[in-house]
Amino acid sequence: MTSSFCMSAATEPGVPLVPRTWGPGKALPFSIVVCLFFVFLPTALPAQQHFNGGKAYEYARDFAALGPRWPTGPGHVKAEQFLKNHFQHDQLEDDAFTANTPIGPVLLHNFIVRFPGKKDGVIVIGSHYETNYPLRTINFVGANDGAATTGLLMAIADQLRGKKLEGYSVWFVFFDGEEAFEHWSASDSTFGSRHLAAKWSSDGTARRIKAFILADMIGDKDLDIQRETRSTGWLVDLVRQAAKKFGDERYFFQKEEAVDDDHLPFVERGVPSIDIIDLDYGPNNAYHHSVQDTMDKVSARSLAIDGDVFMETIRLINQR
Ligand SMILES: [Zn+2]
Repeated sequence: MTSSFCMSAATEPGVPLVPRTWGPGKALPFSIVVCLFFVFLPTALPAQQHFNGGKAYEYARDFAALGPRWPTGPGHVKAEQFLKNHFQHDQLEDDAFTANTPIGPVLLHNFIVRFPGKKDGVIVIGSHYETNYPLRTINFVGANDGAATTGLLMAIADQLRGKKLEGYSVWFVFFDGEEAFEHWSASDSTFGSRHLAAKWSSDGTARRIKAFILADMIGDKDLDIQRETRSTGWLVDLVRQAAKKFGDERYFFQKEEAVDDDHLPFVERGVPSIDIIDLDYGPNNAYHHSVQDTMDKVSARSLAIDGDVFMETIRLINQR
């Protein structure tokens, strides 16, 4: 309808789209103003609707500024307080539990924030927020590894707050204890997700989860998200479709790799799950788990791409 209106105005014999007589001080004919409005509308609107990557970046920067967040350390307590303060007016659950780790029993805290929807079922969006215990001796703030995705989830939550969601409920999980306490193994990693997947499996919650979407290390300026091979196929397809909508396919799934991460305890229990991860961070992965993992390696633009794709993926899951 829009284009045919403009076509007819533009192709009307003897009526040029912008008359030669038009100049400063002369108003454009009303029909042309209307037409220009419609011509520019389709390109102008999506730009306004882009996800606020700048806000996600600010959250991440503030979170990383708390310092290293290794379990049992003072920065971890600050991180817990930060999340509790931020979500104090939302449905926040402090899922505290004691993990049996190589350094002994450690009290960990997953944080769950629930936004109720009208449809029966839940979309879970997760990320881990702590930093590595073995890296407590260096100033490792995990700007990309923990902080960026915490900021991303907070900014996505901003989009959902205060609305009755038409689709499924959306729950955010800020996982604790993803990183190994000594050396990564099946028993020394993913403490928070293993605990929560087991709990939600036994109380029946897991059956209600339509999709589990994990975000990890996707604030990287040089964004190249891999296709994690144990992620659920239809969810991978949906994320790819979402990326395509924004012309962002090139950042997604150009290479395949299996990654052990917080999605696996959910995959093992039959919950449709995807790990959206960029495990290629700096030259030869040099920034990963190093003091170089700082906010200057993270970009608002990458977080905007993530946010666009996450929001669109939520929409597509609701339509499915
Ligand atoms: Zn890590």
